[in-house]
Amino acid sequence: MRQEETRIQELDSRISTLIVRQELDRRKDQEPLQQIQPAEPSDLTGATARSIPEGSEMREQEGKFILFDVAEFAIWLNALQVTRTISLIQNHHTYIPSYRDFNGNNQFERLAAMETAHLQRGFNEIAQNLTTFPDGTLAACRPFESAPAGIKGANNNGICMENLGNFDTGHDSMTGPQRDCIIRVNALLCQKFSLTPSSDSIVYHHWYDLTTGTRTDGKGNTKTCPGTGFFGGNAVSVAQANFIPLIGQELRNLPVVPPPAESATLFTAQVVADSLNVRSEPDPSSGMLAALARGTKVQVFEERNGWARIDPTESHWVKGSFLQKIDPIG
Ligand SMILES: [Zn+2]
Repeated sequence: MRQEETRIQELDSRISTLIVRQELDRRKDQEPLQQIQPAEPSDLTGATARSIPEGSEMREQEGKFILFDVAEFAIWLNALQVTRTISLIQNHHTYIPSYRDFNGNNQFERLAAMETAHLQRGFNEIAQNLTTFPDGTLAACRPFESAPAGIKGANNNGICMENLGNFDTGHDSMTGPQRDCIIRVNALLCQKFSLTPSSDSIVYHHWYDLTTGTRTDGKGNTKTCPGTGFFGGNAVSVAQANFIPLIGQELRNLPVVPPPAESATLFTAQVVADSLNVRSEPDPSSGMLAALARGTKVQVFEERNGWARIDPTESHWVKGSFLQKIDPIG
């Protein structure tokens, strides 16, 4: 056996161990939310006012949290690559924090507090992929590539959207900017993932049994989330009558997104192993498509987790550590 092949196998097995560990972390994350009320993110402590410098851009980042206005979010989402299959959008309310905990510029504090609360419950990061705020801003939270911990039974192919507020009847009355944001973001997600707005693609936490994770449309052991007053109510029939048509209308009015362009070359490289496997995914356990001999020149179109995609449109991957960049010649 050639030395390089042996080294590839050693690396492959080390990577496999890592992937298994990540998978276990991910599964731990998909445990059902606790069944006490309120079981949603809650942490009222540690709020401090934060001032945004005058004239600063709307889009800001603190750690992984990116704060947008809706227009900025649309641009960000359009450029985002998501390999996980997305078939539904979860709508939630945070319950706690509610409007009284929001001062207009403490989005990052609220996100950090929610993440702390989720970590304390054994999740490995904040549960939701997105959070909307009363001023019409929103934040990217857990990466889209990672399944959320939002609804037992609906996470694997879901995007979890938490709307800051307590929208049970008699509590927070949703602001116009947040209402518009929620409708637009649901429409943008439908566009991005080619979903037709319906009560199958746009779902409420209330429609799933907390114990079994099965869809019961509100029967059994459920939460009121996203609130008994959310767009007129949390029943499937009310969503179908009030909420989903607004998303459908918004989707029809969205500008058409140009089809993704063929990837541009990042750099040219040559193979520095005697035989380098080409695989169907950036994963050592995926199917082997071919092997490249030492010195073979390839173009790299994308890099992910130490792997390099060497085809402009097809999913053909090699380990990046066995490639050496070739300096472009004048
Ligand atoms: Zn919920």
